[in-house]
Amino acid sequence: MKYALVTGGSRGLGKAVCLKLASMGIPVIINYQSNATAAEEVKAMIEAEGGKAELMPFDVSKEADVDAALEAWQNEHPDDYIAYLVNNAGIRRDGMMFMMPTEDWDSVLNTSLNGTFYVTRRLLPKMMMRKHGGRIVNMASLSGLKGMAGQTNYSAAKAGMIGLTKSLAQEVAARNVTVNAVAPGFIETDMTKDLPQDELKQLVPMKRFGKAEEVAALVGFLMSDAAGYITGEVISINGGLL
Ligand code: NAP
Repeated sequence: MKYALVTGGSRGLGKAVCLKLASMGIPVIINYQSNATAAEEVKAMIEAEGGKAELMPFDVSKEADVDAALEAWQNEHPDDYIAYLVNNAGIRRDGMMFMMPTEDWDSVLNTSLNGTFYVTRRLLPKMMMRKHGGRIVNMASLSGLKGMAGQTNYSAAKAGMIGLTKSLAQEVAARNVTVNAVAPGFIETDMTKDLPQDELKQLVPMKRFGKAEEVAALVGFLMSDAAGYITGEVISINGGLL
């Protein structure tokens, strides 16, 4: 059986992606860092609709934890593999660079960029070996495309994910594995709830923040058979904010 793994699947965009993939009939592994209650809730929502879900807590920024969790899963599922991967876990630690503590730089890069590397590297061999291949979607950001004052760490992490996406897509295309990035603008989640929303909405041509479900619909499309010839792309979803 082909499973999906969504990192940071307990809340926000990751949660919406878990629900979307489950609605497409894909068994979903919900990764999270610490919010077990939220993750259990996502699992229950999927099961209430007749879907299949499992929890897999680990910190994506800890290489040994990633390897241990994924190895344990594979040992318990000898006939299954993770064919769909969404590298979604991410954090913000905003601040001007001249005052940025090293810890804020490291934690943002370690979560989004290194986490994507650790998880993807571990899952690639199975994806490349199987006839059905694999699908990888990396959750980047508008901030990684155009930069944003106060987000040098976050922009660097997201721009790094975009570079990784383009290079990896070329490495694995012949093995029927597609690798794409999604670059959302402002989306309503816990990550953006402390931002001055009324002010920021005015910058968006559509005059609103996006919904997690709108991003999940795009990820669902990229995971579908219909998107089989799309790889190495960065697809923006931002209400026209350039
Ligand atoms: P969110 O609501 O803050 O949720 C973050 C999720 O990531 C949670 O499930 C959290 O798990 C998990 N997480 C954080 N650090 C982790 C770690 N080290 N290991 C494993 N899981 C970890 O964020 P969001 O808005 O949904 O954002 C999701 C992704 O989209 C992020 O990569 C973000 O950069 C990107 N993005 C968001 C926006 C936006 O406007 N919201 C725009 C562009 C890009 P716990 O529940 O256990 O804490």
